[in-house]
Amino acid sequence: MNRRDIIKGSGLLAAASLLSPAIKAATTSGSKRKPALTIAHITDVHIAAGDNAPERFIQCLAAVKKQGVDFILNGGDSIMDASYDNVKREQVTELWSIWDRCIETVKPYAVYSCLGNHDMWWKAPSEQDEMYGKPYVVKRLKIPARYYSFTKKGWHFVILDGNNDKISLDEEQFKWLENDLQQLAPGTPTLVMSHYPILGVTPTLVGGGHSDHVKLKNLFYKHKDKVKICLSGHNHLADNALYNGIHYCCNGSMSGFWWGAGDKDSAGKGYYFETPPGYAILRLYEDGQVENEYIAHGY
Ligand SMILES: [Zn+2]
Repeated sequence: MNRRDIIKGSGLLAAASLLSPAIKAATTSGSKRKPALTIAHITDVHIAAGDNAPERFIQCLAAVKKQGVDFILNGGDSIMDASYDNVKREQVTELWSIWDRCIETVKPYAVYSCLGNHDMWWKAPSEQDEMYGKPYVVKRLKIPARYYSFTKKGWHFVILDGNNDKISLDEEQFKWLENDLQQLAPGTPTLVMSHYPILGVTPTLVGGGHSDHVKLKNLFYKHKDKVKICLSGHNHLADNALYNGIHYCCNGSMSGFWWGAGDKDSAGKGYYFETPPGYAILRLYEDGQVENEYIAHGY
């Protein structure tokens, strides 16, 4: 439906409601119910100066804002890469300043981020360097810690750090997660975000999933009245799996083929295999139901 049709349609509806209260009541009861929250999940932005990526990402963010979201979840790999061996300090600071410039445009919307494998600068001159490893990324992403949780409008959100041995939660973090889920009131709908898929189709195809997926699956089963959906990225591929009543969605990537045109396996311009660059819009309902829609952005 285009914009003119919507305006025309709502005009007719308003006229009808003035004439007859009965028609208005029937229309209201037939309309779609309202989600408690509408949120965007962006992931694998891999921002860099080339390929006009900053301008294209800013256009994507403007499109996200138009969806009427409450806030944005960012799944990590925010910058192109700080993790390779030959990366210099200036490159890292340049990438984060481009990130800041782009993210500035989504104000006043809050962005809750998690750490991706390409975000950390492990080759800093020393481990004491203020830009070494995870604490610097936590600071740049303006998040409270490498893993954390928060609650909004009755939904609980858990942000994980899978950047540990063989893609997993470290012992301390797993204990924290057990406790975080345990202390929630029964039936509190919960969304979990990690950079890496926990379960799903894409890890079967290309790997890159949590190695502690059985342990996590068991924990989530114990709290199946709470955990409703697990979001991830990393694989630049989109899937949507359901196991034990929990949705597992790998939501492609904002950068597609790292903002490039693609290769012989790309199904379209900028695709990574069959997945176009895009982002997801999620509708979270009071009763714990959730819809996850992947939208190709075309920029
Ligand atoms: Zn990644």
